[in-house]
Amino acid sequence: MRSRTAFYLALILLLVTGGVGLHGCAVNPVTGERQFVLFTEGQEIQMGRAADQDITAALGEYDDPELQRWVDAMGQEMAAISERPDLPWTFRVLDDPTINAFALPGGYIYVTRGILSHMNSDAELAGVLGHEIGHVTARHGITRVSRAQIAELGLGIGMILAPDLRPLGQAAGAGLQLLFLRNSREAEREADDLGLGYMSERDYDPRAVARVFEMLGRASGAEDGERIPGFLSTHPDPLERRGTILEQTTGDAPQYQGSRDDRDGFLQRLDGMVFGTNPREGYFRDGVFLHPEMAFRMDFPREWRTANARTEVQGVSPQEDAVILIELVEETSPEQARNAFLAMDGVVGISRNEDSVNGLPAAGARFRVDGNGTEFRGQVAFIRHGGLTFRVLGYAVAGAWNNREGAVLQSLASFREVTDPAILNAQPRRIEVVRTEVETTFEGFLQRYPSTVDAEVVGVMNGLRSGDVIPAGTLVKRVTGDLPPAN
Ligand SMILES: [Zn+2]
Repeated sequence: MRSRTAFYLALILLLVTGGVGLHGCAVNPVTGERQFVLFTEGQEIQMGRAADQDITAALGEYDDPELQRWVDAMGQEMAAISERPDLPWTFRVLDDPTINAFALPGGYIYVTRGILSHMNSDAELAGVLGHEIGHVTARHGITRVSRAQIAELGLGIGMILAPDLRPLGQAAGAGLQLLFLRNSREAEREADDLGLGYMSERDYDPRAVARVFEMLGRASGAEDGERIPGFLSTHPDPLERRGTILEQTTGDAPQYQGSRDDRDGFLQRLDGMVFGTNPREGYFRDGVFLHPEMAFRMDFPREWRTANARTEVQGVSPQEDAVILIELVEETSPEQARNAFLAMDGVVGISRNEDSVNGLPAAGARFRVDGNGTEFRGQVAFIRHGGLTFRVLGYAVAGAWNNREGAVLQSLASFREVTDPAILNAQPRRIEVVRTEVETTFEGFLQRYPSTVDAEVVGVMNGLRSGDVIPAGTLVKRVTGDLPPAN
């Protein structure tokens, strides 16, 4: 959780207002064919730039300027030989543990530290960047957004009435999802081909892309919520595409080829990288949300689906009829914050309560919201702690409130200061790159260099399987450090 932004609303507005100027057809820079889009190139860039600011604010850039520069340089090198060299190409490493890479219209391209931690050479990264560059040069994103706009122009209405009370069950970043609609198979194949072309023109070995798809295939089978592979939701069938890429890059007369594939140099750049959730930004452990930097904790109801989405922390009931949210507000006084909340369009105060919460100054209210035909009921508490004002909010569709009220009130009342030094000093897990001294099996490596994540995770991130023999002098990633327990 970081300071609050109007991220979600901004994206909705972007999508809704962006539809005002209708521009019909444009020539696809890659195919030369005319295609239906709603935007000029100038608008495309403007839209990408606005969304880039929101994404960077919401997800954050990974704090390693040297790595950022290096990734950007690799991307620029390939973008320069693309069909659209004059776009304001921007490549960022996001501070996000999920395995993901994506592109926005206008030339904004992102890889997460999660996907980097699962790669093993510069050519693998070049393959992913090349693929995303391909989506931009072929204007896939822009046609997707155009289609989405045509279908979904009404989407933002409920949100604008009461921007802070989004429909139940909708995860933060649902607006973002609209930008990440699953690409069509043809678009994916086109981006694969363009990417293979860019990387081989820059002499990267395109066979590395097959390893990336193998990794994605394995990661999709791993049951680790932290690493839910976002890339896969927009990039289907990794193993089938791996086969296609192998056909194009191997054999007597490969369609694409190159020689650069630097494993050691790449892995050394990953040494010390944060792995998985960074607890400094808050983390869940056994249904409890803990935030070391902000020194607070709060229990969420058991069985609820929870997420720390940077701008807010959220829990959703299994029936998706109630949510609990923790956010920061700008007001310094809980009373002022409550007044501002109750003054929002559609929000009706039912009663106020002045209680402090576990010794912290607080102001609360029972409320209902009438928006777009659906009535919500809930309880809000504004809590002052550590120089910040937190808004802790629980609400449900009116018919479900009686059933959810007890769990919501119990959760809101559990907000308290954390003083346990083990939690206050929690550190993230990190990647440590070690060089094997003697030839060993994968199992032998795990024994000699234990990790604080499952063997399967270590295997996927290194491209290693049970029984594999690792020669002496090989660089291999392990994961060290662990999150402290909640109590
Ligand atoms: Zn793609």
